[in-house]
Parts: sequence; structure tokens; C-alpha cells
Amino acid sequence: MIIETFVLSPFQQNTRVVACEATRKAVCIDPGAESGELIDFIRDNDLALQAITLTHGHLDHVGGTASLAQEFPDAEILLHKDDEDLYRSLPAQPLRMGLSPHQLRALGMEYDDPPGITRNWTDGEIYAIGEIRFKVLHCPGHTPGHVVFADESSRSVFVGDCLFEGSIGRTDLPGGSYEQLMDSINNKILPLGDDFVVYSGHGRETTIGREREFNPFLQGRYF
Ligand SMILES: [Zn+2]
Ligand SMILES: [Zn+2]
Repeated sequence: MIIETFVLSPFQQNTRVVACEATRKAVCIDPGAESGELIDFIRDNDLALQAITLTHGHLDHVGGTASLAQEFPDAEILLHKDDEDLYRSLPAQPLRMGLSPHQLRALGMEYDDPPGITRNWTDGEIYAIGEIRFKVLHCPGHTPGHVVFADESSRSVFVGDCLFEGSIGRTDLPGGSYEQLMDSINNKILPLGDDFVVYSGHGRETTIGREREFNPFLQGRYF
């Protein structure tokens, strides 16, 4: 499995390309901003981008969807239905954060309406990328329609903004819920297993075991 990370947007968001080495089929998880480097990587490595797989609808995770979809028009765009309103409100999201139109221009955060969603994720579905199998787990709390992608065979989980090294996702944004987020982490993410490598939407990689031991939000959570 190929995993390439691009740190994009003023939010230092981790945009990732995940690809099957045997078939060259690939997905982009959360294109956070327009990036020539991202497009070049896909082309230079002869990858076939089959989908833009979104964990949730926040601007720092979907801001580059339009430009990537324009380059790769055959790629599907997948998102959980409970984040579709958020996704469609992309042009208004930075204003809700209190940024002025002048700041938006300076930060490259003037968004057009994002392209339509091809299909919605279903909790528990298995999504194939060549020989890779993502199990899609609905993990609400940071946003209502947040999902994570777990790959059993490589022991990897792409958690978006649910869980970070030493921290957890914000729950004070519209649609957020601390109780739901803790339920998602405790009952869906941690049970995957301590050896799973955690690829978060921001910051460094970690493991479930390390977070179970050291993350101050998860102290004493054993299963
Ligand atoms: Zn987010
Ligand atoms: Zn984020």
C-alpha cells in the first residue's frame, strides 16, 4: 500500500493519497486545498484516481475537492449524508469562522460551490481500492457525518479529525458532540487494536496503543 501525505491549507491539514501497488488504483483522502504537487504525484506515479474519499465536510478537508475533481473527472466523490449540508456550505464556512472577505483572499479560502457528491458512505461498508479494503466506520462527534477508514490487512486507520496524537477532535463547532465523539473513539476506533497506525487529519502519525496509554482524553480506556 502506498501512502503519501501532503500538508495543505493554512490549517496544516494532512491530505493523503492511498494506492494499491499491484493495480495502481488510488484514492485521495480529504483534499484540503488545491495542490499542484498532489496532482503531479498522482500522474507521475501512474496512479488511477478512482475516488475522492472524504472523512467529513470541514473546509480544511474538502477545500481542494473542486480542483482535484476537475483534473480527474472520473473520480467519484464520497461523503456521509450527515455532512452534506456542511459540504455544500463550503463557500460560507470561512465567514462563519469570523474571517473577513479580505482575509479569505489572502488565505486562498475563497471557495466556489463544491462539486456534487457521487454517493454517500454507509456505516460498515467495505470499500475496495484494488487489493486494499477500507472498512468505513461512521464516527460522529467532531461533525455529524464523520467517517474513518480502517484497513485490517495493513493495520492502518485514517481517522480525520476524530483523534490526534495526544488529543481529540474539537466538538464545539456546529453539529459537534463530545459524548458522541467519545462514543465513536471508545466503541469504534480503539477496538480496532493497539497495533493500528493512526493517520490523523492534522499532526503526526501515532498508534491506537500509544493513544490509549498516553492520550489524556483516553486514560484508563481498556477493552
Ligand atoms: Zn474538521
Ligand atoms: Zn481538520
